[in-house]
Amino acid sequence: MPAADFEMNEIHWLMDMFNTVDIGLVVLDREYRVCVWNGFMENHSGLLPSAVKDKDIFDIFPSIDEKWFRSKAESVFVLKNRSFTIWEQQPYIFRFKNYRPITGKADYMYQNSTIIPLSMVTGEVGHICIIIYDVTDEAMNKIELEKANHELERISRTDSLTQLANRGYWEAGLRNEFLRLKRSNGCSSLLMFDIDHFKTVNDEYGHSGGDEAIRHISDLLKKTLRETDTAGRYGGEEFAVTLVDTDAEGAKVFAERLRNLIEKSSIFYDEQQIKITVSVGFATYSPKFNKHEQWIEAADMALYHSKESGRNQVTQYTPELKKDTSKASKAN
Ligand code: GH3
Ligand code: MG
Ligand code: MG
Repeated sequence: MPAADFEMNEIHWLMDMFNTVDIGLVVLDREYRVCVWNGFMENHSGLLPSAVKDKDIFDIFPSIDEKWFRSKAESVFVLKNRSFTIWEQQPYIFRFKNYRPITGKADYMYQNSTIIPLSMVTGEVGHICIIIYDVTDEAMNKIELEKANHELERISRTDSLTQLANRGYWEAGLRNEFLRLKRSNGCSSLLMFDIDHFKTVNDEYGHSGGDEAIRHISDLLKKTLRETDTAGRYGGEEFAVTLVDTDAEGAKVFAERLRNLIEKSSIFYDEQQIKITVSVGFATYSPKFNKHEQWIEAADMALYHSKESGRNQVTQYTPELKKDTSKASKAN
């Protein structure tokens, strides 16, 4: 083949490849006008090269974050270095619809890009080339994985019956609050409550009736809480609440309101009405507690006192209670 023919063929081949390759290729001049627009760009934008030629890229694609894109491109023009963009930082440069069947959940094509300097014979960089990679599959996989991990994490700290924090997660929160109070000498309260004669509820209405009662109490509790408080299911029908920045007076008001609300409310199960009450104990933080477990023991002791004194009532922990309780357990 004569050399001239070979060169002509080569140009044709290059043009074919340029228009068929599965990446976007765009050349912009110093004024951000389009000089070159390949087949990928045409197919995904629906705009022919003749329609975009010499047009300002920001006029054709108003969705481009102009300030961000200019800062990336200017460094290529001036420093003559390559620049990269990744979808995690900015999901796309050109907003194209996503047509991929597997990652159909994505509304648009996620893109990575490389911006390279194109120098003239004088050595000056008068143009840049943007290379666009469709990374929708990779992005969606990562996003889906992150979502699944997030959900797993939520499940691992949630009690499935009540959707309250489970014991482990609630106790970790209490421990953090305990350590915060040790440093700051603030005031928070810990409240624990247990359903009265719950065995009877199970006996009379069955285990499902009992479960419904536990769910009902959890819903009332959630409605009563402030955003900073955390409630957890401590055991079967025992609940714990950390009341942040709440002194004894505040905790007593909260406890009485909750106790009263539960007593007044009714649970409807299997066309029957279930009535229940709870016994409550609370302890405000004391610097004398060496470990957060001692704080729990104090609230539990107050709860025990409420049970011993006839149930359906609230008791505040005091160190005297300790002596009374030990007396009571000796007498029993
Ligand atoms: P008290 O007033 O002294 O608290 O009496 P009680 O009958 O409530 O006694 P206790 O707290 O010892 O009994 C708790 C019962 O709760 C025993 C257990 O069968 C039941 N229970 C624990 N977890 C669940 C649960 O998830 N669902 C149901 N339905 N019952 C549960
Ligand atoms: Mg009970
Ligand atoms: Mg119990």
